[in-house]
Amino acid sequence: MTVTETSTPEETVASGRDLARRLSPGACVALSGDLGAGKTHFVRGLVAGWDGAEPATSPTFTLLHEYKTPRGPVFHLDLYRAQSAEEVWAAAHDELEAPHGLVVVEWADRFPELVPPGAIRVELLHAGEGRRRITIES
Ligand code: ADP
Ligand code: MG
Repeated sequence: MTVTETSTPEETVASGRDLARRLSPGACVALSGDLGAGKTHFVRGLVAGWDGAEPATSPTFTLLHEYKTPRGPVFHLDLYRAQSAEEVWAAAHDELEAPHGLVVVEWADRFPELVPPGAIRVELLHAGEGRRRITIES
């Protein structure tokens, strides 16, 4: 387990970038933390860590967004608006059951039963003005 504190959004992006550089295709990152904790910034770092060019955003109406990178696809699942595990499963069973590329599940704690065993759990917490505590467990 590693705990990091960041004091700017850029440092949270860098933390995601550092993690992604240690991950191989087939890895899954399960993200949790309150609204505004920095999950989407962390995902932006994950994509950048695989040298992806497209900045990650919060997918508003899509459950699943794919970022193409030179190291393989990054699949970003955002469960914030998901209504049921069945809905998520229907949209992303291939990625969840047999991960290839990097699978990132934002709001993973909404449907813990969907998170593949072996996923790397990352929790982001507010730690004061502009500060965030990032706990990474694998
Ligand atoms: P989430 O996806 O968890 O809702 P976002 O990444 O979309 O969070 O937004 C995080 C918000 O918090 C942004 O407005 C960002 O500018 C702000 N922020 C302030 N400090 C930090 C920090 N240290 N790390 C990440 N975001 C931060
Ligand atoms: Mg978000």
